[in-house]
Amino acid sequence: MKTWSIETLELGHVELNRRRMIANASGNGLVRVPVQGWLLQNGEHKVLIDTGFRSPEVLQKLGDSANGISTNSLRLELQLKRLGLEMKDIDFILHTHLHLDHAGQTDQFPMSTVVVVNRRELEYAVSGLSGPSYPAEDIKHLIDRLHTPGALQLLDLEQTPSEEILPGIVCSAAGGHTEGSMLIHVQTDQGMAVFSGDLVYSVFFQLLSKTVLHADPVVSANFVVSRRNEKSALKRLLQSHPEFTLYPSHDLPVKIKSGRVVHDSFKGDDCGPSGCWCSFVETMGYSEQAPQPKAKEQA
Ligand SMILES: [Zn+2]
Ligand SMILES: [Zn+2]
Repeated sequence: MKTWSIETLELGHVELNRRRMIANASGNGLVRVPVQGWLLQNGEHKVLIDTGFRSPEVLQKLGDSANGISTNSLRLELQLKRLGLEMKDIDFILHTHLHLDHAGQTDQFPMSTVVVVNRRELEYAVSGLSGPSYPAEDIKHLIDRLHTPGALQLLDLEQTPSEEILPGIVCSAAGGHTEGSMLIHVQTDQGMAVFSGDLVYSVFFQLLSKTVLHADPVVSANFVVSRRNEKSALKRLLQSHPEFTLYPSHDLPVKIKSGRVVHDSFKGDDCGPSGCWCSFVETMGYSEQAPQPKAKEQA
């Protein structure tokens, strides 16, 4: 079986109140985090994971000082062009979930591109339970696809419990963040990669923070399932393979082994062009209280 290569696409930034992202964050203030998509290629097919946000205005509708920051060069079309590709070259788009910063440019792709969504997520998106987190334009487009033969593939991950999209790409229910979020497991030359959507916003705050319990991942401040389900979804993600690279949607990738972050692989102090959580660490004053990124693993 051919393995997949991964290219990261920089799709702008979102600014949100820190309380919306990190549980128990004190004080007011915004955090700015990168919005990312990924291009997977195996020499035969081209697959995209997530499509960023439509416009800064859809973020502003969330209120609470939320905003989107984008430039022309960070639009998906130009990010693909940089790699020598056009929209029509993409065979599949897989959505970790349908939040406004993950499905905003899907309508720019032709109906010949197959869009893959967990049915539960589409149902949740039209339920009205999360308001402007699912903009009308994004969701109406998916309904158009639903009525266009071949344009949409719906998964039933709560029941199946995993589905293969192409050889080496398997989706499973995330069980957290939103009702229908999914994990995407991809075979690469470097081993297994897992795209976790927004189950993990910040590797540092959720997977490396000291808590009172040993090896206890911390849930983000943004989930619609019960706290118990969100916590167990995080644990399932970390135990999903003996060893893998975790790709959170708004942070840098990190290696996980036996359910724990491999500390040497943590690049949180090494920002890419689209930035990371470092500035947040500084402005929060967490660097004093939390373990340093390169600290030795607890025995
Ligand atoms: Zn989300
Ligand atoms: Zn997001």
